[in-house]
Amino acid sequence: MRGHRRRGRGPRFDSSANRRAYGEIHLLELKPAARGRRVRVLCLGAHSDDIEIGCGATILQLARARPRAEFRWVVWSATGVRATEAKQGARKFLGSAAADAVALHGFRDGYFPAEFANLKDSFETLAREFTPDVIFTHGRDDRHQDHRIVSDLTWNTFRDHLILEYEIPKWDGDHGQPNSYVPVSRSEALRKARALMDAFGTQRNKDWFSEETFLGLMRLRGMECRAPEGYAEAFNMRKAILDF
Ligand SMILES: [Zn+2]
Repeated sequence: MRGHRRRGRGPRFDSSANRRAYGEIHLLELKPAARGRRVRVLCLGAHSDDIEIGCGATILQLARARPRAEFRWVVWSATGVRATEAKQGARKFLGSAAADAVALHGFRDGYFPAEFANLKDSFETLAREFTPDVIFTHGRDDRHQDHRIVSDLTWNTFRDHLILEYEIPKWDGDHGQPNSYVPVSRSEALRKARALMDAFGTQRNKDWFSEETFLGLMRLRGMECRAPEGYAEAFNMRKAILDF
């Protein structure tokens, strides 16, 4: 969420030629909560691994920048071994804060449209319990039906909040043109990719589930926003209220 200032760090991606061409770039900072105040972050994912894939590196960066941040990490379909993996994944990104942050549900994988009423009730309960400053959720145009329902219910439930829709690489090839970027360090990008491989053993046999996929997408998004170390995660931010 923080805009960044280019000061010549990372010569590989911020060459002096680039600086000559574009000059110093100063982006406005978007501050989800005033510095010093505890920022509340809500992460929503349909399945175990969605949050980590969509915004894992951003969470690492956010937790580093805001050590007092309060997280709520909700996975709507996580039972059996997938529940164990969801907890492992959250721990790798939130550390000890995961213990109080993680909430797992048992909705049936692939059938969220048929579970809409119960899911809506569950969202309403969540909104009564936790008031976030920023929400990470699935994209409105995601072609996976479960992802789309979570996105729709996020917008339906949270009407006064900053919502950032993350990306999930998949067979459908439904990547669009995101409008918001969070540059992350190369070490955070690598840490995310490795944590995904470590935490989600049931997914490792899927042809797309690889460090290369995750790093490749972050590298592309880093290129698009001229990230200092070349890596970023991208989001769709459909509404933002500016108060100058
Ligand atoms: Zn998913």
